[in-house]
Amino acid sequence: MKLIDEFRNKDIAQGLIQRIHQTCTRPVQLMEVCGTHTVSFFRYGIREMLPKHIRLLSGPGCPVCVTPNEDIDFAIALSRQKDTVIATFGDMMRVPGSTSSFQKEKAEGGDIRIIYSPLEALKIARENPHKKVMFFAIGFETTSPTIAVALLRAHRENIRNLYFLNSQKQVPPTIRVLLQSQKVGIDGFILPGHVSTILGNDPFQFISEEFSRPAVITGFEPLDILQGILMLIEQIEAKRAAIEIQYTRVVHERGNPVALGKIAEAFETDGASWRGLGWIPDSGYRFRPPFDRLNARNLDVEVEPSFEHPECLCGEILQGIKIPLECRLFRKICHPENPIGPCMVSMEGTCSTYLKYA
Ligand code: SF4
Repeated sequence: MKLIDEFRNKDIAQGLIQRIHQTCTRPVQLMEVCGTHTVSFFRYGIREMLPKHIRLLSGPGCPVCVTPNEDIDFAIALSRQKDTVIATFGDMMRVPGSTSSFQKEKAEGGDIRIIYSPLEALKIARENPHKKVMFFAIGFETTSPTIAVALLRAHRENIRNLYFLNSQKQVPPTIRVLLQSQKVGIDGFILPGHVSTILGNDPFQFISEEFSRPAVITGFEPLDILQGILMLIEQIEAKRAAIEIQYTRVVHERGNPVALGKIAEAFETDGASWRGLGWIPDSGYRFRPPFDRLNARNLDVEVEPSFEHPECLCGEILQGIKIPLECRLFRKICHPENPIGPCMVSMEGTCSTYLKYA
C-alpha cells in the first residue's frame, strides 16, 4: 500500500475488526503510549468498533503534558528576566504553570516566540545578539535528534547568547515504571510509531523479557491501528510476549542510527522529572560537559515554589489510572479557553481529545 486512502480502506478495516472480535476471548487492557494514537482512536471511532471487553488506556504519551510544573515555572521565571527571549513550541504557550503561563507572560510584555524547529532558536539568537535567548527544549526521542543538532550547531558557531532549558524525556524507562508500579493492569502495549522510528525495538525488549507483556510498534492510520491491536490480541491469546513491529514501512529494528548518534553526541542519559510520575532514573538527558555552558539551568534565577491544582487529575490520567470524565473540573471549569492542566491544552492531551471526540 502506498496511498493514504489505502490505509483507510473500509472493507479491509471491517475484516480486521471481525478478526479482533473472533480472536479476543477475554477482558484485556491495552495501553497506548503516544498522544497521536489517543487522537487516532477517537477520530476514527476505533474504540466503538472493538469488543466491549477490550479497554484502551492512555499513557504518558504527550510531551507537553508530562512536563512538570517546576520546569514550566522555571521557564516562566526566565521569561521575566530583562532582555530575554523565550523560544518555545506552540503547544506550550497556553499550558498553565503554578501561577502563570507563557500566554499570560506574553500579554504582559514578555518576549515569547513560537518556533517550529529548534534551529529557529539559533536564528533568533543570531539576530538578537544583545538579548539572551532561551529555548524550552521539550519532547520525546522523536524531537531529541533535532534538539541535539541545534545544540551542537550553537556550540560549533560559538553562539554565546543562546541557552537550552532541557526537559526532554525518554519513553522506555517510563513504561518500566508503569509496569513496576502495578497501579493499573496492562495486558499489552501499543508502542509509539514515531519514537520507535528513532529507537527501533531493542529498548522495548524488557517489556516482554522482564514483565512477560506483549507490545506492538504501531502506525497511526486506521488499518495500522486495527492490525496492531489484532497482533497484540493474538499474542495475548497465545500467551506469547514479544515486541513486534506493525509499522514496518517506517520503523526498523535498529531504529535510526544517525539520529541516535546525534543524541549521543550531545547528551548523556540522566534522570528526569515527569508530571504524575515523579523522578524517573534514566528517563531524560543532561548535556555532555563541553555543552554545559548552554544550559539554562546554570543561570541564577529565582523561581517561585511549584504546585498543581489540587483537583486536576492529569497526573493520574497520564498513568492510565483515571480518565478525563472522572475529573470534576472536566468541561465545566476546565476547557480549552480555561485550561487547568496541560492535558486540556495540548492537541495530543487526553482531556482535550476526550472533549473533542468522546
Ligand atoms: Fe486537569 Fe482539566 Fe484534565 Fe481535569 S479536565 S484532569 S483539570 S486538565
